[in-house]
Amino acid sequence: MTKGTTSQGKRHKKSHILCRRCGRRSFHVQKARCSSCGFPSAKLRKYNWAEKALRRRTRGTGRMRYMKSLPQRAKHHFRHGGIPMKKRIAIK
Ligand SMILES: [Zn+2]
Repeated sequence: MTKGTTSQGKRHKKSHILCRRCGRRSFHVQKARCSSCGFPSAKLRKYNWAEKALRRRTRGTGRMRYMKSLPQRAKHHFRHGGIPMKKRIAIK
């Protein structure tokens, strides 16, 4: 038996399972710790030497539900709830 095809068939034990916090298959079963996000520690695991990993998690990788509307709202000085200018003219 060698390291190649023959031994690949014997691999049916898993050291990592799905992580409850980050969803990656990085939660080590015996150590009870995620190798990707550090769960169950309170703070996210993150290192500056892992540039690509930082990039994958940085701002803009998610839905940006709050941030994506900021430029638009800033343009109008964060006012809200008024009547748009075109409608206001139409009323008068
Ligand atoms: Zn995780």
